[in-house]
Amino acid sequence: MIRSLYARNPEELSRILSLEKPFYGKIVYSSLLKGAESFDEIKQLPKETRERLSKQYKRIPSLTLVDAKYGNSAVKLALELSDGAVIECVRLSDGKDRYTACLSSQVGCAMGCSFCKTGTMGLERNLESGEIVEQLIAIEKLGKKVSNIVFMGMGEPLNNFQEVVKAIFEFHRERGLNISYRKMTLSTCGIAPAILRLSELKIPVRLAVSLVSADDRTRSDLMKVNRAYPLSELKKALISFQHIQDKRITLEYCMLGGVNTDEKSADDLMRFIRGLDVLVNLIPWNPVENLGYRAPEKREIDSFLRLLDERRIRYSLRREKGQRESAACGQLAAKRKG
Ligand code: SF4
Repeated sequence: MIRSLYARNPEELSRILSLEKPFYGKIVYSSLLKGAESFDEIKQLPKETRERLSKQYKRIPSLTLVDAKYGNSAVKLALELSDGAVIECVRLSDGKDRYTACLSSQVGCAMGCSFCKTGTMGLERNLESGEIVEQLIAIEKLGKKVSNIVFMGMGEPLNNFQEVVKAIFEFHRERGLNISYRKMTLSTCGIAPAILRLSELKIPVRLAVSLVSADDRTRSDLMKVNRAYPLSELKKALISFQHIQDKRITLEYCMLGGVNTDEKSADDLMRFIRGLDVLVNLIPWNPVENLGYRAPEKREIDSFLRLLDERRIRYSLRREKGQRESAACGQLAAKRKG
């Protein structure tokens, strides 16, 4: 069964929809990208074709908007999939009319990182590439063109490798959305073999790795992935990625009060990044009920910044875009309707 008509080229659309003429595929393709809701809207198609397709497909999008929460710099959308599951995606603004789409790659996530709300859901299923592309279309219906894409919503994108890569190719398609690979960031919890697989594709997407701690014992407590791929393996994969891609890697460092903001943590971090070109993105943890952590206090953040300065570690402190909309990293965990 076809869940979504998106992430298919004009030839595939012609075949799937049994279009009478090959160029109708191009018409349908560009109408989909413009966000057409029904075949009846696509007036360049002959009436009989529109009627036939409208009978077959009541709506074109397979995703239905069920909620939108507006904040100062972020809009969080809840989208219901054709099977009733609900995912979330976010449009982030930098205040200078540049918009980034934060997309989900799975319904839930199997990785179970202990500080992450999505991790509490478990994995329900992978998203199809078309469902990933549709999130961007839904975001652009808010009225602004998106220039950047980050896979930082629900799910571990490298666990849905094929569909995520297919969506990336679709975002990049020259006669389609035409978004540069360099403006796409894939965020992973650190699945070392999948990072190697990604580097072999030689597409210049950016990589962000959720590091959280550069101490194996602490990281294994926080993130199950570290038990399978400890820091030494992760580092080897990052060195290979950097060797092939020559791109600065972002290390996401979720700051947990009393856990990873002391002097030893800074030393561990310094050791881990030796030989890598990285930017450490510090993200003070956004409180999620019942996870047993606390957000770092201001004095912990300030002292950790000082420790990093002393060690000449390059970092940025993420302004907490989307926190009020519960849309910051690790906080996307929509529930099935009903
Ligand atoms: Fe999954 Fe990422 Fe959350 Fe870990 S942090 S559970 S990989 S969504």
